[in-house]
Amino acid sequence: MKSDGGKALFTALQKPVRNCLQGIDALEFDRSKAAVEEAQAILKQQHDGGASYDEDTLNDLAILGFFARFLSEYAAFWERVTKREYEPSWMALQDTLDSIRLLKRMSMIDVARFEKQLGQLEQVYPYKIFASVGCIAERIECSICGKDIDSFECLHRRGELYMGKMAHGIVRNMKKFDHVALTENPEDKRCVMQVQGTPYQFPAIDWLAENLTARKFTVSDISHVEMSERRKRNENIIRQGRNDPCQCGSGKKFKHCCSAKQYSTYPHGEFILLRKPPRVTQSV
Ligand SMILES: [Zn+2]
Ligand SMILES: [Zn+2]
Repeated sequence: MKSDGGKALFTALQKPVRNCLQGIDALEFDRSKAAVEEAQAILKQQHDGGASYDEDTLNDLAILGFFARFLSEYAAFWERVTKREYEPSWMALQDTLDSIRLLKRMSMIDVARFEKQLGQLEQVYPYKIFASVGCIAERIECSICGKDIDSFECLHRRGELYMGKMAHGIVRNMKKFDHVALTENPEDKRCVMQVQGTPYQFPAIDWLAENLTARKFTVSDISHVEMSERRKRNENIIRQGRNDPCQCGSGKKFKHCCSAKQYSTYPHGEFILLRKPPRVTQSV
């Protein structure tokens, strides 16, 4: 927080923040939502009450608004996980990660704990390929000054705050959709692709939902996810002597042919807890 007003407000928000996080741990998500609304009401009251705030105060108010939004997204994520709403939980995870990145970039608010907890969580989802849409726009307008954001006339930078408002580009006159690309690393991971007829499995989310609702541990007990590679035997490859002719009929020796396909690797995620709860397996 750059301004005194911002610092005081951040202190005033501590109680609703605590309430929100306690609500998540208790799986009382209505309580979390009420706490976020309380935080937003405090911010709104402050915003409406100020006749002529300086830029630092307005920017701090905007940042605290992002922080309140982060809390509501974080609560929504865990609510969807416990309800086994798989795809919505993925969307909420993306919202939450975006907000964490934003808060890290713009403020000194400590979100390291959340970043650590959620940072690897994307990898336990089965989504690996995404659609990315390309399009051609006539011009991209600056949300602050209305001029072409890429021209020299606009002095604003995308993603920066100006008097409490964030500069972003507004697409004007979309000419045409150029292409849809499939990619593993899109800018926005919300557009997930699914192959028809092969429903995704979410064992890790099921595991979380089961243990959280059974009160084996709470959300704040989860430190982070540790990813590793595991090996499994390929049932289609029959074990045979290394120097025997290969079963596939290639004429080569087994060791030079299908031996390499005996095992395949798959990603394995393990949830690391901050305290050891009674009777809980951590493997998923
Ligand atoms: Zn501008
Ligand atoms: Zn072979």
